[in-house]
Amino acid sequence: MRCLCKQKETNELKVEGDVGADAIWCNRCNCNLDIQEVPLSLGLKSELMKWIGKHGDWIDWEKDKIVPNGIKLEDEHNKQGMILTEKVQKELGVKYKVSFSPSTFARVYK
Ligand SMILES: [Zn+2]
Repeated sequence: MRCLCKQKETNELKVEGDVGADAIWCNRCNCNLDIQEVPLSLGLKSELMKWIGKHGDWIDWEKDKIVPNGIKLEDEHNKQGMILTEKVQKELGVKYKVSFSPSTFARVYK
């Protein structure tokens, strides 16, 4: 996978939600990878894009606070993220190491 790491190659990836980002990151240098360049099936890519589109649904941006019921929303999102991470790992195979980095907004801003 192309990246900005020293060797310009990475096989350590992570799945993490962030607003306006793609769902796949390099776990070595923390840069955001272009999901279109990651060799995943179209189905999984669109699932990842849908997933990241919901990131932050539990945040009230104006008040910088969690919305009512937000803890549950974030939990659900994290659970789905775990499942997607497993799918990504399966599609990329043993050459890659894929980990999941859950969102912890609800735990920080109660
Ligand atoms: Zn990198």
